[in-house]
Amino acid sequence: MNVDLIIRNARLVDHSGEQHGSIAIANGRIVAIGADETMPDAERVIDAGGKVVMPGVIDPHCHLGVDYDYDEDMRTETAAAARGGVTTILLFARSMNGPYVPFYRERRARGEAASVIDFGFHFGIQREEHLDEIDDIVEHTGVQSFKCHMGYEPGNSIGINSSPDSWVFAAMQKAAKLPRGVVSVHCENTDLVGLLKKQMIATGREDLAAYTESRPVYVEEEAIARMIRFSEVTGCPLYVVHTTAANGPRMAAEARNRGVDVTIETCPHYLTRTAYDEDLGPTARISPPLRDREQLEGLWEGMLNGQIGTLGTDHVPFRKNGGPVWTEKPGVVSFAWELPLMLHFAVNERGMSLSRLSELNAANPAKQFGLFPQKGSLSVGADADLVLIDLDLEQEVTHESGKGTCLYEGWKLRGWPVLTLSRGEVVFDADEPASEPKYGRGQCVTVPDAEREARLAAAG
Ligand SMILES: [Zn+2]
Repeated sequence: MNVDLIIRNARLVDHSGEQHGSIAIANGRIVAIGADETMPDAERVIDAGGKVVMPGVIDPHCHLGVDYDYDEDMRTETAAAARGGVTTILLFARSMNGPYVPFYRERRARGEAASVIDFGFHFGIQREEHLDEIDDIVEHTGVQSFKCHMGYEPGNSIGINSSPDSWVFAAMQKAAKLPRGVVSVHCENTDLVGLLKKQMIATGREDLAAYTESRPVYVEEEAIARMIRFSEVTGCPLYVVHTTAANGPRMAAEARNRGVDVTIETCPHYLTRTAYDEDLGPTARISPPLRDREQLEGLWEGMLNGQIGTLGTDHVPFRKNGGPVWTEKPGVVSFAWELPLMLHFAVNERGMSLSRLSELNAANPAKQFGLFPQKGSLSVGADADLVLIDLDLEQEVTHESGKGTCLYEGWKLRGWPVLTLSRGEVVFDADEPASEPKYGRGQCVTVPDAEREARLAAAG
């Protein structure tokens, strides 16, 4: 057997553990893993020099084509993701006009023409009629993951419709019957947020912390508790997106002990930034908000003790309006730095094992959204979505001409991806920083069942 590529002399790490050796790739898939001397001949051999090879990051949470043109975002942002060792992204997409099936077909085709890496979709429940579309969506798109928003009051700066409890509950009733069904919820008590915001604006404060204090952590905790109850009653898996509350992972762990299927996601910014950081202003508005040191440390506990299930970037490129915090658009970008931030702060500073990191950023997101084991692990038959990591490389974060708000400009981080492979093809090489990104080679991973089965059959 002659294979396309072998990466040898590597520290091979995934969620299940690690070994030293080689990984062989043919036709975009992993075909062998083992000792260096057992490998077949290859067209190309990369000597990893003992560096780490892990499954590429699967980012289950991002928003593209919201403020900038979708095609353009799919080019620029997936190229940034590839530089950050990300090989699959899942977009929380919203169709405000018309049904989701034609929307999916259009977004998928445009994505496949532009994206550097693989991508897929979750769909937002934005109108009551979307609930009636779920059967159609499942049949014609393969998407079985639905998102409900909370905490956005009418007239908000980005046009999101919050779900009343009845929409969330009805979505859960439907998704509970699906093999890969899951409902994601942005947990903040919408009513309470509206009230507390009015009270805070009346004080005249316009600082970043005022925004945070207008949406205190209990509005999130209260909503998480309610959604866990809904999940328990309906039997629908619950995915709590962008958790900022240290109690979130604890509540979820307690619920899982009762048999409730609930997963907590958090984001790199809630682990590295607070609303009280002196260099941050209104452009660091995020929804839900950056919190304080106590919540941040509590989240790290959940990262290290296993109570947090996944990491998502919530990457969203916005042209910030530079206005006061009350009218600023919420969201930041971090495709390119989630992995370096975690290598620096989780692995190098807090002693997290690389295997646990791989569980958080690859295996668990893949399992949650029906992509495992084709994605998210180093195993024979899996897609060769890989990242080669230099744990000792120290570099500064620079965003310069990039879109959106970066909260880490100038930070010196230790541990960076140096090579990213998407289905066996190099999509980022630190030794060739000027090479043109491979636009249009990404594949949609959320596909109708027949197509999904054909792909799995081809994989053997
Ligand atoms: Zn989001």
